[in-house]
Amino acid sequence: MLSESHKQRYLRAINLPDVGEEGQLKLLSASVLIVGIGAIGSITSTYLAAAGVGRIGLVDFDTIDIGDLQHQVLYETSFLNRPKVRSAQAKLQRMNPDITIEGYFQALDVRNALKLIQDYDFIIDTTNNLHTTFIINQACIATDKPFSTAGYYQYQGQIMIHIPGSACFACAFENLTPQELRRNMQGGVCGFSTGILGSMQAGEALKYFLHRDTPHLYDTLLINALGIFDTQILYFKKLTLPKNPSCPVCSKIQN
Ligand SMILES: [Zn+2]
Repeated sequence: MLSESHKQRYLRAINLPDVGEEGQLKLLSASVLIVGIGAIGSITSTYLAAAGVGRIGLVDFDTIDIGDLQHQVLYETSFLNRPKVRSAQAKLQRMNPDITIEGYFQALDVRNALKLIQDYDFIIDTTNNLHTTFIINQACIATDKPFSTAGYYQYQGQIMIHIPGSACFACAFENLTPQELRRNMQGGVCGFSTGILGSMQAGEALKYFLHRDTPHLYDTLLINALGIFDTQILYFKKLTLPKNPSCPVCSKIQN
């Protein structure tokens, strides 16, 4: 049962179709790990905390730089040089004291990935770093964790969701060249495009918790699909992303 204060705080969500008090209870008992609290993660973490996801983990190794403030909208000028994780944790906790927010001031890498993800129900990769994305992909498949990943380049964005048995990131992108792996580190950042990705990643995680035990899951999430857009020309498309039967990551672990 929701408490009276929860009913008041989450009233606008409870009134939505497919949420209700039962859905809100699911969110309050859910946990999400967000890897990267930069441009995308600022938005994802804000919406998930506001929505009342009961436990949110934040992983980031970076400190707040003046050049981050143009697109990482969680941060304030007065907090320059502080660890992003600490600043984000404090701000989100002030916004919603009901939930638990845990911070990990470190980079996710091959040595700690399994340990970081093991205690969370859903993993969100917002790093826009393809090397990290491949590590998260492998770790989540090895542990049967659902996850989403999003990346951007200037005005363009892409997002996909994996649940056990569906296409993984390597199914589509195992053959990227070293040049393509570097591409997303250059070329400027469009804040409002990364905000769309952040919002979509929060939404996909929330829908996962609301629908994971229902046949609607595949209809409502970007599973076996890749969402792409370009805000410079206002182009949005959902592409089919088939599972690769010879994928070097998921074909060896799953059916
Ligand atoms: Zn795969």
